[in-house]
Amino acid sequence: MKIEPFNTENPVEKSLFSALCTRRFPHAVILEGASPDERMKLAKKIAAALVCTGAEVPCGVCPDCIKAAADSHADILIHSVEDKPRAFKVGMVRDIRSNAYIVPNEADRKVFILENSHTMGVEGQNAILKILEEPPSYVNFILLCSSKSGFLPTVLSRSAVYNLGQSSSSDDDSVPREKILEAAKSVALSLTSYSDYETVRAAAVFEKDAKLLREALPVIQEIFAAALRIKYNAAEETEFDDIPSELSQKLSRRSLLELIEAADTIMSSLKLNANHNLTVTTLCTRFRRAVV
Ligand SMILES: [Zn+2]
Repeated sequence: MKIEPFNTENPVEKSLFSALCTRRFPHAVILEGASPDERMKLAKKIAAALVCTGAEVPCGVCPDCIKAAADSHADILIHSVEDKPRAFKVGMVRDIRSNAYIVPNEADRKVFILENSHTMGVEGQNAILKILEEPPSYVNFILLCSSKSGFLPTVLSRSAVYNLGQSSSSDDDSVPREKILEAAKSVALSLTSYSDYETVRAAAVFEKDAKLLREALPVIQEIFAAALRIKYNAAEETEFDDIPSELSQKLSRRSLLELIEAADTIMSSLKLNANHNLTVTTLCTRFRRAVV
């Protein structure tokens, strides 16, 4: 991959570039948003600039830039995992930590790029925190994630966060709105049935799709809230068809409030990368308990 200069028309790149030029670049940066490819491309550009020995970083022609472009620079270490809960294992974080205490091979700096780092569980985040608190002077971490919301506040407080915005590529991996709506509506509707099995069946769609669950939960909660507003005679047009009104007829205010709260709890456990299948089970149990 060719290393291109920073695009200073773009506010995020401009700010990164000026931090690099002062040679006082933060030890840890989090790049959130955009697509995985866009995040990685920018991370590699930052890494090249950090090891570059040219005048205008990244110069693209010095030996360090050339190796960086070929993904063969010994001091740029890329760790990638899949975007699924707890994919970034605590053992990997510990290996990275030990490696970080070994001085660079050839450059002045050693750069770690951690893709999908938001998938670290609490233990992994605490392990990375230890080195973020007192990093060796030559180390830089670039943490990539779809959203910083998966990080503990302690990790965020040690990192400079850059939001890359929405993905500009057309083939991004976001879940289509219709699919989210369909899943959310079917779970909500299942709660008007007397059978627990209906909810288990409706939630089965989340079992192999953590992303769908993350996107659908706020929508499910919004359906409960719309049903509650109907109870208070504040009906409105929604994209949920007549499901809120059906819920408002069959469920009590108390049930609806409990459902809203249960959705909150489940969203928080998702942020901490709780075991996914267990979260789906908890969802069914908590939702059913709210409607009895
Ligand atoms: Zn260079």
